[in-house]
Amino acid sequence: FAKNSGKNCWKFYDADMQAAAYEKMLLTNSLRRAVENNEFELVYQPQVNIADGVIVGFEALLRWNSPEHGIVSPARFIPLAEQNGLIRAIGTWVLQEACWFARRLADNGWGNIGVAVNVSPKQLCADCFIDSVRDAVHNAGILPNQLEIEITENVMIASLKESISKLEELQSMGIRLALDDFGAGYSSLTYLQQLPVQTLKIDKSFIDMILVAGSKKTIISTIVDMAHLMEMTVVAEGVETEVQLEYLAKSHCDFAQGYLISRPVPEKEALQFLAHR
Ligand code: C2E
Ligand code: MG
Ligand code: MG
Ligand code: MG
Repeated sequence: FAKNSGKNCWKFYDADMQAAAYEKMLLTNSLRRAVENNEFELVYQPQVNIADGVIVGFEALLRWNSPEHGIVSPARFIPLAEQNGLIRAIGTWVLQEACWFARRLADNGWGNIGVAVNVSPKQLCADCFIDSVRDAVHNAGILPNQLEIEITENVMIASLKESISKLEELQSMGIRLALDDFGAGYSSLTYLQQLPVQTLKIDKSFIDMILVAGSKKTIISTIVDMAHLMEMTVVAEGVETEVQLEYLAKSHCDFAQGYLISRPVPEKEALQFLAHR
């Protein structure tokens, strides 16, 4: 009996793997058509100054509304897009769209409000990347310092020297740079010191620790102090409660982003949010 069930288990496992591979293939096929079919949308999540609650910027987050698969999370389709090179077309679309949003902000008198765009290591490494950023900024007619590019620590694993020179080029164009998900992965202070970033985004996993009794949450104020010494501004990610916000204020963290303030919302709501605050 045991042998039998063992065999069945193996069969199930095998079938699961086949189903996963098949689903991946279906998703990839749909993804190929998604750019042309206008299936993408950007939603915007506000970032506020903790000291006075004023909105200082928005992070643009990509949404894929697929007719075949429904709403697919970027955590699911970005890695797929990276595997088959589609990330370049998608990334270019995201940059253009985000810069046009920044332009509409500026046209409404909010030219001092930044728009942050996520860029994966594969995108940064592509030859056309710098040009696509320059074109997006130029075509929308915005000042480069209204755009912020968020990178993750993975860029350093990819190719440190090349990444740094690309980031320096972006910086010389006047574009701001942020290090996303700080502390989530393989962080090294040596790397951090070499990266030309002005903003440090503390990963949600640290912000969650604030709510856990007995956790070593003092690490947060240590990160904030260190970032300030390195002349960086600090954003806390994934702030969900008042308790967290108060703790962050006490830790002198500059900005906060999270469901407590707002979920990521479509452009229209983002503009209304600004008007009413
Ligand atoms: P990220 O850049 O770290 O973005 C923050 C994620 O946390 C977003 O998930 C956001 O919706 C979510 N979030 C914000 N506040 C809260 C909160 O208070 N609680 C919780 N539980 N979650 C919160 P989302 O939109 O699903 O994006 C996931 C990741 O996908 C992003 O992480 C980013 O790495 C990637 N991504 C999103 N848009 C793009 C894009 O246009 N290009 C690239 N390359 N990657 C993108
Ligand atoms: Mg981000
Ligand atoms: Mg993040
Ligand atoms: Mg993340």
